[in-house]
Amino acid sequence: MNLDKFARYPLTFGPTPIEKLERLSKHLGGNVEIYAKREDCNSGLAYGGNKLRKLEYIIPDAIASNADTLVSIGGVQSNHTRMIAAVAAKIGMKCRLVQEAWVPHEDAVYDRVGNIMLSRIMGADVRLVDDGFDIGIRKSWEQAIEEVKAAGGKPYPIPAGASVHKFGGLGYVGFAEEVRRQEKELGFKFDYIVVCTVTGSTHAGMLVGFAADGRARKVIGIDASFTPDQTKAQVLEIAQNTAKLVELGKDLVADDVVLVEDYAYPAYGVPSEETKEAIRLTARLEGMITDPVYEGKSMQGLIDLVQKNHFEKGAKILYAHLGGAPALNGYAYAFRNG
Ligand code: PLP
Repeated sequence: MNLDKFARYPLTFGPTPIEKLERLSKHLGGNVEIYAKREDCNSGLAYGGNKLRKLEYIIPDAIASNADTLVSIGGVQSNHTRMIAAVAAKIGMKCRLVQEAWVPHEDAVYDRVGNIMLSRIMGADVRLVDDGFDIGIRKSWEQAIEEVKAAGGKPYPIPAGASVHKFGGLGYVGFAEEVRRQEKELGFKFDYIVVCTVTGSTHAGMLVGFAADGRARKVIGIDASFTPDQTKAQVLEIAQNTAKLVELGKDLVADDVVLVEDYAYPAYGVPSEETKEAIRLTARLEGMITDPVYEGKSMQGLIDLVQKNHFEKGAKILYAHLGGAPALNGYAYAFRNG
């Protein structure tokens, strides 16, 4: 496997810490050991998160293309578009964002606080579009690219979640390499890696990275898209393309994509009562903040799988905390009673 041949533009502090969630592990019966890799604390850029690892391998291509505007897309409370706005500011490019109506919401301030507010503060040209959830390539995004061109700009297109991009999977191959280095220092290996999966390149990159030491199927994706067939297919496609790029030397097949579909209900971006319970529990036992769209659902999945004895006794589980807390501001209503 060869990741070093790709240009990388540093956007993160360096390796992210791995922290034992002692009280959560104990609360869940003490049969497994739960650790968190804190991707949510990975950078000083606008609260950080998983997109930065991906963008570290995409930005060199954007700079080489002589673009002057990053163009991207997500939901109204997209973490990804916040990260694009931050990176554009950092590298001195303009930023055009399409924010689609992916989530039915109850909060009066949903489209004014959290991620979208931060993107506006960072100077992005934020446009709201009335289209529903879809992780695929979107008309509104293609239109935004054309509009930037028509106005004399040079767009660099980055799709939702920085996933369906030729270099979208590389960042999380690097995550696996980083975990292997940290495992040497810790003196043990993780038996499972739990990750939230929506647009797919985080999971896909991990799959390739951990396939290198036979752990592809130990990466457990928790679906938060509520369109799991599309997400699963997208993970496989990105993983296969990324495997070729880094010369993995192994074929990845559909069964390598482990995606648990049980926790994304009632819809993308809408937390269930169980999701909210998982968010409260993790906050109250560990002071670790997860969000209603992504990490709250993967945490809910992790908790439920532990309680169902899905993992063997003594298993060491690495929960990838991918960020996302700023979206909580758009969900005040859901937590109005604590
Ligand atoms: N967690 C957070 C906080 C995110 O912002 C995202 C982005 O979509 C994910 C998880 C899912 O990652 P991916 O889209 O690469 O599947």
